[in-house]
Amino acid sequence: MKPPVFDYHAPATVDEAIALLTRYGGEAKLLAGGQSLMPLLNFRLSRPAALVDLNPIASLAYIREDQGEIRFGAMTRQRTIEFSDVVRQRLPLLTEATALVAHLPIRTRGTIGGSLAHADPSAEYPAVLTALEGSVVVRGPRGERRLGSADLFQSYLTTNLQPDEVIVEVRLPAMAAGAGFAFEEFSRRHGDFALVGIAAMLVGDGERCRTARLATAGAGPVPVRLRSAEEILERDGLSEAALDAAARRAAELVEPDSDIHASAAYRKNLTRVLTGRALRRAMAIMRSR
Ligand SMILES: Cc1cc2nc3c(=O)[nH]c(=O)nc-3n(C[C@H](O)[C@H](O)[C@H](O)COP(=O)(O)OP(=O)(O)OC[C@H]3O[C@@H](n4cnc5c(N)ncnc54)[C@H](O)[C@@H]3O)c2cc1C
Repeated sequence: MKPPVFDYHAPATVDEAIALLTRYGGEAKLLAGGQSLMPLLNFRLSRPAALVDLNPIASLAYIREDQGEIRFGAMTRQRTIEFSDVVRQRLPLLTEATALVAHLPIRTRGTIGGSLAHADPSAEYPAVLTALEGSVVVRGPRGERRLGSADLFQSYLTTNLQPDEVIVEVRLPAMAAGAGFAFEEFSRRHGDFALVGIAAMLVGDGERCRTARLATAGAGPVPVRLRSAEEILERDGLSEAALDAAARRAAELVEPDSDIHASAAYRKNLTRVLTGRALRRAMAIMRSR
């Protein structure tokens, strides 16, 4: 199918893009990589009056390290992130997660801002944003605001962004040197959206676990931060018993829905199994670094 008719605008600046969004009063859509939006248009599931193309705004694509954070312009392509040395050194969890996003041609167009704005609960980037306590910088006619995961994601494919707001930057705190990490997911075919995915990060302190971070993809309408599973590890360390207890706790914390791809019970079980796998691999990486 072909998309319905729409106006097309190619603003040169973010301010111009915001002015266009404002002018269309909620009837315009931003176009980033188009990898989620174009299928929605082609299937006529979305019928915007206008597309406001962010691709001409070159200043929205960058990766910078600043005061302990890695900052990504919203239009930074997933493929640029996948092959970035700074990201590999400072955010290896993101490098690993990026390789699991779809297929290479899709990553060549898809952007970090588009992925977070699209808010697919099965996507990898929302889980990483949640686990690492990152945030997005959003600009609109009323100025800028910064949203963490809990404020950004509302439900399936739904965020708290206003129709006249643009994500301009994504910020992730650099991971501690020597941190362990793993993104484990289960999907039917390589490159498919995950049935469930788990983002994990561990920072050790001798035999103890100073910091544990766990977040889900695909286990509910929004990514879930598995805080009380993390607390088990921070309290009891990284023994086999503690890892198993944290994995069991993770499954208790999620409330997935059933759909044509998997039942809620299966997703809960996947949450337990993948949390255990992610923690064991993160621990092995931590001990080898
Ligand atoms: C076959 C296939 C498989 C895929 N598999 C995966 C997968 O396994 N994991 C995964 O994470 N993704 C997957 N994707 C989605 C892919 O990662 C998309 O690139 C991503 O979800 C959207 O990014 P985009 O830049 O293409 O955004 P677009 O498609 O251009 O936009 C998506 C939505 O976000 C809005 N938007 C875009 N940029 C901004 C911004 N800066 N501020 C505010 N709103 C904005 C748009 O208006 C639109 O509503 C897959 C896609 C396809 C086609």
